[in-house]
Amino acid sequence: MTTTTPEAPTYQGAAQRRKHISMPTPQVPRQRRSPEEIAAAQRFQEPKRVLLAAPRGYCAGVDRAVVAVEKALEQYGPPVYVRKEIVHNRHVVDTLTEKGVVFVEETDEVPEGGLLVFSAHGVSPAVKASAADRGLQTIDATCPLVTKVHREAVRFTTKDDFHILLIGHDGHEEVEGTYGHAPQNTTIVNGPWEVDQIEVPDPDKLIWLSQTTLSVDEAMETVQKLRQRFPNLQDPPSDDICYATSNRQAAIKKIAPETDLVIVVGSANSSNSVRLKEVAKEYGATRAERVDFANQVDESWFEDAATIGVTSGASVPEVLVQEVLRLLAEYGYGDPEEVVTAEEDIVFSLPKEIRKALKEAGHDDVGRGGRKRSACSTS
Ligand code: SF4
Repeated sequence: MTTTTPEAPTYQGAAQRRKHISMPTPQVPRQRRSPEEIAAAQRFQEPKRVLLAAPRGYCAGVDRAVVAVEKALEQYGPPVYVRKEIVHNRHVVDTLTEKGVVFVEETDEVPEGGLLVFSAHGVSPAVKASAADRGLQTIDATCPLVTKVHREAVRFTTKDDFHILLIGHDGHEEVEGTYGHAPQNTTIVNGPWEVDQIEVPDPDKLIWLSQTTLSVDEAMETVQKLRQRFPNLQDPPSDDICYATSNRQAAIKKIAPETDLVIVVGSANSSNSVRLKEVAKEYGATRAERVDFANQVDESWFEDAATIGVTSGASVPEVLVQEVLRLLAEYGYGDPEEVVTAEEDIVFSLPKEIRKALKEAGHDDVGRGGRKRSACSTS
């Protein structure tokens, strides 16, 4: 059986040191085969290694959104309503629920005059209008990199009269939000397999945009196929797949060829976490698994795994990775060797509604988001 032990060593990589996660470590005991039993089943001779990807975990947009909700709770008290999951991570959602956040699917579930936060994935103008109709006080925690895509959608369809081919997963909240900015002039393309079927109004007035959390390789394959079919397809001014998605995929690409097993910490509805698992397999990991928590790691995976890679999606607090590393240490794996492929120091300003509330409450440092500059973060 494994439990969380406060004395257990905590490994903090360069990319993660600046993040002070306020959420408690989940206590998740589970019946397991013992380390001795697993060791007896392991036939390989190599030392047992752990390669830890960096960057991994929280991105600036997720950090901003979670801090925004925490500060809303502090300033206004519960209940704070959040439309959809603030970020796609079970632990984050469960922790905020315990603190008094009420997650709803739509604006009509919020009592008139209530306080509603829009999630990091963004919303369509129709959702904002519906909230305004109900007299809701709103805080928009949409990631600025998603807002950038929204602005592009509006600009290219209204000013330049383009039709948008939006590469992304139909039904994902971010795609719904972007689509909702130009619904009459947007076609969603789920992947390269759909390119031959799509119909467009004018093949010479097309531009592609994308969801921010796709597989970089698959998105480029879709663009290539689209361009073969529509040679005059325009590129967006800059990539929509965000720095955090690209960086986490680059890190796992570097590690994957050396690993027998990659463990991705992240939730099943987290697009970028699911992509990390796929990328790990594509780039040579013998096996790749995704878990929400360390207690979902099956110790039988270790039987053929001399080298294990570990990473986490952009909505995953570092405490959840630390749990997995402690488990690996219990089963005799060595200190994690961090493989750094990029340094990240991006911090986004908190939503303007929160900054205004903090200023009115007399807090000095309200200009920027992120926990390290927070004047009154819960921790
Ligand atoms: S994954 Fe990228 S787009 Fe999504 S919240 Fe993070 S930084 Fe923003």
